[in-house]
Order: sequence, then C-alpha cells, then structure tokens
Amino acid sequence: MAEGASVIPFVDLRAAHEEVAEEIDAGFARVLGSTAFMQGPDVAAFEEEYAAFSGVAHCVGVANGTDAIELALRALGAGPGSEVVLPANTFVATAEAVLRAGARPVLVDAEPARLLIDPDRLAAAITPSTAAIVPVHLYGRLARMDRIAEVAGDVPVLEDAAQSQGATRDGVGAGGFGAIAATSFYPGKNLGAYGDAGAVTTGSAELARRVRLLGNHGSVVKYRHETLGFNSRLDTLQAVVLRAKLRRLAEWNDRRRRAAARYGELLADLVDAGVTIPASPEEALGTDHVWHLYVIRVRDRDRVLAGLHEQGVQAQIHYPVPVHLQPAFADLGYRAGDFPVAERAAGEILSLPIFPHITPEQQEEVAGALRKAL
Ligand SMILES: *Cc1c(COP(=O)(O)O)cnc(C)c1O
Repeated sequence: MAEGASVIPFVDLRAAHEEVAEEIDAGFARVLGSTAFMQGPDVAAFEEEYAAFSGVAHCVGVANGTDAIELALRALGAGPGSEVVLPANTFVATAEAVLRAGARPVLVDAEPARLLIDPDRLAAAITPSTAAIVPVHLYGRLARMDRIAEVAGDVPVLEDAAQSQGATRDGVGAGGFGAIAATSFYPGKNLGAYGDAGAVTTGSAELARRVRLLGNHGSVVKYRHETLGFNSRLDTLQAVVLRAKLRRLAEWNDRRRRAAARYGELLADLVDAGVTIPASPEEALGTDHVWHLYVIRVRDRDRVLAGLHEQGVQAQIHYPVPVHLQPAFADLGYRAGDFPVAERAAGEILSLPIFPHITPEQQEEVAGALRKAL
C-alpha cells in the first residue's frame, strides 16, 4: 500500500456501535444481573419485534444463518431422497445447509443483469423430488418472487434473506413472500449481532413450532423430547444487541441507499471505461434494494482489485468461485461451463466498501482509487 494513503475498510462497524452503545451496555447489565443467558426475555422480545419488522407472524431465533436454513429445510420436510433448488451464485452456506439436511442441492444459473436466481431457468430444475426452492436475496436485492411463486406452484419456497434485512416489494419484506425464510445476523450483515446469530421467519405457526422444536433438542416442554433435534438457539446477549440495532435498521438501510446513489454518480463516467455499475431496474420491479453489497463489474478484475488494495481500499469479491466449482461440492457432479452466467460474473464482480456510516469523502477516495486502478 502506498505511504500516506488512508485505509478504507470494507465494513466499519464502529460508528454503528457508537449509536447503540449505551442501550447495549444497559441491556448487558440487565442480562448479567438476571443471569438469564439462555432464552431470556430479550430473546422473546426480539423475536416479536423482528417478526413485526418483517411483516410475518412468527420469528424463531437460532444460533446462526446456516442453521436457520437447515432447520427451515427440515421443518419443510426436506431430507434424504429429496432435492432442493438454489442459485449457483450464492454464499456456500446456502448449499451447505441443503447437504446438512440430507437433501441434494440442484443449482440454477443467475439472471444476467441482477445475478440472482433466474426464474426462466427454474422450471427445468424442478422434479417430483423437489422439496423446496431457495431463492437468495443476494447483495440486498430481492429475487423475482412473483415469477418464482408462479413457477413453484405447490413446491414450498424458502427465502435466504441473510443479505436483505429490510428489503421490500410492494410493502412485503424479505422473508414475507415464501412459506418460510432464513436470515443471518453475522456481524457484517445489515442487521448484525456481536457474534453468531440467525433467525427463521414464517407465517405458519406449525412451521415455526417445528423449527423451535428442532433448534432446542427436539423439545418445547422441558425434558420432553418429541424428536431428534439440535442445539441452535439465539443467546440472550445477542438478542440485546439485535433489539437495539433493529430500531435503527430502517434508517441505516436508508443511509446505504444514499451511499449507493452517491457511488452511482461518482462512477457514472467510468461506464465508458468498461465498468458496469449496479443500476439495475429495481424501481421498475417495485423492489427496494438495501445494498448489503455494492457490486460492480470490471474487465481484468484481479488487476483492478490489486490496484485498489495497493491504494488502501479494501474491496472484496462476492463470490470468487460459484458453488458448483467449489471442491467441497465436487460430488454433485457439476462441471465448468454448467452455469455460464454465474461463472462469467465470478471473474468480473468486485464489491466496493459500503456500510451505513461510510462518508462522502471515503466514497470519493474509493472512486478515485478505482479510476487509477483501471
Ligand atoms: C451470511 C450468509 C449465510 C450464512 O449465515 P451464517 O450466519 O454465517 O451462518 C447464508 N446465506 C447467505 C446468502 C449469507 O450471506
């Protein structure tokens, strides 16, 4: 990195923490005083508040986002002998959870512009064994839930909403379209805990009951175990953090939108230099992007990324290798060339720093560094 240049982190969680620090201190003191570390009153309160925020009836806190997907799949009855359809362009956790539930992942290529699961290719992936379809609202942008619902018919849809807390379409929130949804509160997500945490949301009391049962050793009534379960619960201290942050989430998502609009202006003249900015047709689709990630596309991406790093801009790639080309998923039998849209994107995408408290000056520096790196 060049001397004298300031570092622009990919995500800076400090300013967000400062806004909620007092509330969190008071909440931690309350929990420490009561020693209700597991399933304390803050967990139930957060579950209620997050369900209301998402516009669904039920929320069940769990240990992390990957567990949330697995437990939701199991609640839907996915398991050995069944298939689960998901996008090739996603974080590996989506596919991992399918395999952990015992089902077989069936991948679908991405839409060329938005890079989410392509509804036009969905029908071909559905078979009589399909137990669930798992669209991922990647980057903070909603998948085409209207089209997906049409193709899905009776097959239940499980939304992976880990990157899209607060995204809406016609007033319905991420997690409110399908039968059930899973989300992650990993610290860097739009709603981030101070450690691992996740949740399942659903309109169905029965699905919520099954998830709660599975995540708590198969038990709702203490020491009566109805089924073989897991230990996957949201801990009370994380619930305190999440409650404080949830009150600011709408405003923080607005800040992300403003930051994205600012990047749009700062980078507009680079379009001629071969940069694709994520000015996708969100408005026409009536959806509301929450900019978990700001993903541009460039030619010669690895050289550009190295140039940004040299100048102190901690850009990243989400994700450099699609699921089907990961060694861990080699047994699925996919090959290079199977999902050309996702594969091509993986070589061109580049995520610029974005977080609610990024300053206009930091964004100008990022844009300047990108101009040089090109
Ligand atoms: C973060 C993430 C997950 C997994 O969440 P964890 O809490 O890290 O287990 C799953 N899917 C997507 C799309 C994610 O971004």
